[in-house]
Amino acid sequence: MTGEVTYDTAAKAQVTEGRETEAAPAPELKGDGMGCHAGAAEMEAAARAAGSSEILDRYAADYPQGPHDKPQSMCPAFGSLRVGLRMSRVATVLSGSACCVYGLTFVSHFYGARRSVGYVPFNSESLVTGKLFEDIRDAVHELADPDRYDAIVVTNLCVPTASGVPLRLLPDEINGVRIVGIDVPGFGVPTHAEAKDVLAGAMLNYARKEIEAGPVQAPASGKSDRPTVTLLGEMFPADPMMIGRMLEPLGLAAGPVVPCREWRELYAALDCGAVAAIHPFYTAAMREFTAAGRPIVGSAPVGHDGTAEWLKNIGDAFGLPAEKVAAAQNAFLPAIRGALATTPIKGTITLSGYEGSELLVARLLIESGAEVAYVGSACAKSPQSEADRDWLEAKGVKVKFRASLEDDWLEAKGVKVKFRASLEDDCAAMEAVKPDLAIGTTPVVQKGKEMGLPSLYFTNLISARPLMGPAGAGSLAQVVNAAIADKGRMDRMTEFFEGVGHGDTAGVWEGDPNLRPDFRAQHQKKLDKMARAAKAEQMI
Ligand code: SF4
Repeated sequence: MTGEVTYDTAAKAQVTEGRETEAAPAPELKGDGMGCHAGAAEMEAAARAAGSSEILDRYAADYPQGPHDKPQSMCPAFGSLRVGLRMSRVATVLSGSACCVYGLTFVSHFYGARRSVGYVPFNSESLVTGKLFEDIRDAVHELADPDRYDAIVVTNLCVPTASGVPLRLLPDEINGVRIVGIDVPGFGVPTHAEAKDVLAGAMLNYARKEIEAGPVQAPASGKSDRPTVTLLGEMFPADPMMIGRMLEPLGLAAGPVVPCREWRELYAALDCGAVAAIHPFYTAAMREFTAAGRPIVGSAPVGHDGTAEWLKNIGDAFGLPAEKVAAAQNAFLPAIRGALATTPIKGTITLSGYEGSELLVARLLIESGAEVAYVGSACAKSPQSEADRDWLEAKGVKVKFRASLEDDWLEAKGVKVKFRASLEDDCAAMEAVKPDLAIGTTPVVQKGKEMGLPSLYFTNLISARPLMGPAGAGSLAQVVNAAIADKGRMDRMTEFFEGVGHGDTAGVWEGDPNLRPDFRAQHQKKLDKMARAAKAEQMI
C-alpha cells in the first residue's frame, strides 16, 4: 500500500523512460531556462555575457518591451523569415534549436512559402567551441551562387543569439552574393511584426551603403517620371494601387512597398521623395530612410478624415501648393464619404491584433458607425501612430498607453487604445465589454467563441481586405455585419455545447468522470498552505 490516490488504472501503464545522449545541450542551455516559454531574463543575461549587449540595447530602444517579456503570439522570427522567403533570389538560413526551426518551417510552408529554408544544426559541442559559426560560414560559402541568389539572409534564433554566435563576422559578400546576418531572439524582439523590421532595416542599411559606394541597378519596372512615395508596411495587394491613384492628382506616384520583393527594389525605395509609414512600427527601416534624408509621414489614407489628413501631410512633405492638395482631397473624399454612408456598421466591437494596423482599422470602423470599445495593439506606440491616437482622442475617447490590467479604463466611456497590449488585456477587455463582435488574434477569438460572441480573426479576415481610400471605405462592412448578424447561431452553439469541454468534462472519458470533491478539497488545502508559507517567507 503506497498511499497513492489514483483516479483510474493509468498509473499502472508502463512508460518508456528517456536517457540523456551525448549530443544533449550544454548544461547551461538546456531545460526550462532556454526557450520562449521560459524566463527571457536568463536568455538576455547569457546574450549580454556573450557580447551581444549592443544589439540588445538597440532592440530595447527600437522595440520597447511591454507587460509581457516573451512572445505571446507565434515565434517572432517568423516575421523576418517570411520577409526573406517572399523575396526573389534571396536564400534564407536559420541557426537555432531544431524544435524552433521545425515550427518556423512548418508555419512558412503552411503559408505557402514554396521555398527551401536552410538550416545549420548544432549540438552542445559545436555551440560552445565556436564550430557552429564555422559551420554557418561554410554553409553560406556553399550557397553563394550569383546565378541563383542576390542575397543570403542568415538568422540567429534564441539559443545562438544567447550564445553570442557572431554573424557580424561573416563576409559582407561572397562571389557577389550579399550576406545579411541578423539576430532575432524572442527575448529582444517582442512580436513577429517587429521582426519584419529587423530584416527590412538590415537590408535597407546594406542597400544604402551600396548606393553611397557607387551606381546601383535601376528598378526592373523602370523609373517613374514623377517623385515617388515609398510605402512602409505589408498591405492588401490592391492598397498600393489605390494609394497610387490618390497620389496622381498631386503629381506623385506610389513607390515600392517595404519589405520589398526583390533586392533592387530597395534602391528604388531609398530613391523616394518621402516615406509613408503605413505601419508605424518599422523603426529600423525609418532610421535608414532618415539617414538617406527622406521625410516620413505617419498614419494612412484610411476613411474620410484619415485620407484628408494624409493627403495634406504628403503635400506638406513635398512642399506642394494648398490648391493641389485640395484638388486631390475633392477628388476622393466625396466617394469615401458615400461608401461609408452606404455600408454602415452597427454594433459594439473590441479589436486587437499584432499587425500594427489596428488603429487604422479602428478608425475605419468608427467612421462606418461602429462603437469601438477597445483597441489593443501588440506593437509599441511610435511617433507615426500619434496622429491616429489623437484622432481617437478627439472623438472624446480615453486613450492610454502601456496601461496595466488594474487601470481604470473599464470605467472609461469610449475607445481605449492600448499599445503593447498583452493577451490577458485583450481577453479581459472582451470579457468586460461583451461586444457584438470581437476582432482579435487566435486565442482571443477562441475565447470569444467559447463565450458565444461572434468573433473574427484580425490577420486572416480583416488584414486580408483593402483599407485605403474609397476602396477601403466599405470593405469591412460586409464581413463585420455578417459576423454580427451571426449572434443567433453562436447562441445556439453555446447552448448545444453547454457544459462540454470544461473542468471535469474536458478530455476523453469512457465512462462518467469519477468526481472526488474530497480529493479536491484536500489538494486545495495543500495549495493554500503553500501560499501561506510563501507569503510568510516574503515577510522575512
Ligand atoms: S526562436 Fe522562437 S520558438 Fe525558438 S525559443 Fe526563440 S522565440 Fe521561441
